[in-house]
Amino acid sequence: MNTRWLFADQLGPHFDDGGPLLFIEAKSVFARRKYHRQKAHLILTALHSRVLQDPERITFVQADTYRQGIGDLVPGNLEGIAATSRPARELVRTLGVGSVHPERGWFTSVEEFTQWAAKRDGKRFLMEDWYRTVRRAHNVLMVDGEPSGEPTSEPAGGRWNFDSENRLPPPRGHTHLPVPPPWQPTEDAIDERVRSQLDTWETEGIEFLGNDGPRRFAATRAEALSALDDFINHRLPMFGPYEDAVLWQDPFMAHSLLSVPLNLGLLHPREVVDRALSEYANGRATLASVEGFVRQVIGWREYVWHLYWHLGADYENLNALNAQQEPPEWFLELKTDEVQAHCLKHSLDYVRDLGYSHHIIRLMVLSNWALERGYQPQTISDWFRRAFVDGYPWVMAANVIGMGLYADGGVMATKPYASGGAYLKRMTDFCGGCRYDPKIRVGEKACPFTAGYWAFLHQHQDGFRRNHRMATAMRTMDKLTDLSSLVAQEAERGSAAP
Ligand SMILES: Cc1cc2nc3c(=O)[nH]c(=O)nc-3n(C[C@H](O)[C@H](O)[C@H](O)COP(=O)(O)OP(=O)(O)OC[C@H]3O[C@@H](n4cnc5c(N)ncnc54)[C@H](O)[C@@H]3O)c2cc1C
Ligand code: SF4
Repeated sequence: MNTRWLFADQLGPHFDDGGPLLFIEAKSVFARRKYHRQKAHLILTALHSRVLQDPERITFVQADTYRQGIGDLVPGNLEGIAATSRPARELVRTLGVGSVHPERGWFTSVEEFTQWAAKRDGKRFLMEDWYRTVRRAHNVLMVDGEPSGEPTSEPAGGRWNFDSENRLPPPRGHTHLPVPPPWQPTEDAIDERVRSQLDTWETEGIEFLGNDGPRRFAATRAEALSALDDFINHRLPMFGPYEDAVLWQDPFMAHSLLSVPLNLGLLHPREVVDRALSEYANGRATLASVEGFVRQVIGWREYVWHLYWHLGADYENLNALNAQQEPPEWFLELKTDEVQAHCLKHSLDYVRDLGYSHHIIRLMVLSNWALERGYQPQTISDWFRRAFVDGYPWVMAANVIGMGLYADGGVMATKPYASGGAYLKRMTDFCGGCRYDPKIRVGEKACPFTAGYWAFLHQHQDGFRRNHRMATAMRTMDKLTDLSSLVAQEAERGSAAP
């Protein structure tokens, strides 16, 4: 019987068919890139915990590189399950692993995506279109959606989305969303051992980003199930209404914190979706909340995964706006002492202290800032991958290169996700405590997001004037009487911390 070599993001039961397993911890992975300390902690804890669950059946090798880890084993006698990144698949191929099973751990298959993409017939790919196709095909939240029944084309509740219910600004008068805090693991001896292993690596010269801190995310199958239970029972009902809102003292709001166990392969998206659907069926969560959550998992997550493969390796290197600015050290290294812009400071602080922030912070603060400031896309993509506990190569292409930085020139999004302070004022409570004013464009109190937005449009006006979705913004820009002083002000700001 072949031994199955699995990676540290293939840890759940759906990767294990009962035969002998091999896991390799390759130190060079951490030496090559400066990962967040809490991310390294999570990955190693997850890996070591998995190995200790079944020591009889699992061979565990700690080596410098994967190649050394394979050592005397005969690669032809090894098998694998398709890895989640191109470099990992290439490694498996060049090492001569005997056979590789198709990928596991996804709600939809590559064939489903390929068929859908082929039918787009040269038209732009739209997540919404993919999501509706998946819902119909898998009978998710469809009218008469009995498991045995024929899927209908009618969505439950008569609507495909509940944006009007789900895009609420943060509730006034609250510093935290009125939901119980998210589930948090109790650290054990494995955490302790991993922590001291990372300390040793640091003394040997391996560098990490961010602060160490108590582990916040699930790293074992049992923990993943507890985190899922907790989210479904206590937080799902509030997920929908406030999914886009930010209260700055509440980094988690009603988000699930499930990207880590999902991306480690500890949870299958099907079980996550099934749990949410049963809450709707039992009347314990509204359709708006359940739909909003299901959309994230079978819509966005699957879409992003398939696009990574579908768009190919060249996509990751796109730089349509020719953004060449080297991101400053204060941004990359999360040094926020001199950052006065309240939104940016606290967003970077979340990353430093947690290796996590929820979606709107990632999109509308961090990547919005990088986009407006012309930070080099591949450097930013690498940063998101290293700095976030759930960062993996497959997540970066569509989320960072496409959605966040518009470096694909419009494959993912019809227009850049750039915004000024007005959006942040509406959807967050950051602006109240800020020395800047989101309405002011020029001068001491000029909001760097507002001024940055107009300076960004001005810089790329030739291209944006050809995009009809930018027409209103360009017309507004043309009416600004202070545009030239604003552009000069932002040029002078350069890469200084705002
Ligand atoms: C610039 C940028 C960078 C991102 N980097 C990552 C990343 O490194 N890893 C990552 O998993 N997600 C990433 N995302 C997507 C999303 O922000 C995170 O999945 C989410 O914030 C994780 O927190 P949560 O589990 O509490 O999510 P919830 O808000 O509770 O959402 C539920 C689940 O939906 C899935 N999901 C939702 N949106 C996406 C998406 N766009 N792409 C992939 N999965 C999605 C996640 O698995 C998540 O756990 C990024 C988004 C942007 C805009
Ligand atoms: S005023 Fe501008 S810089 Fe300050 S918090 Fe609001 S958006 Fe951010």
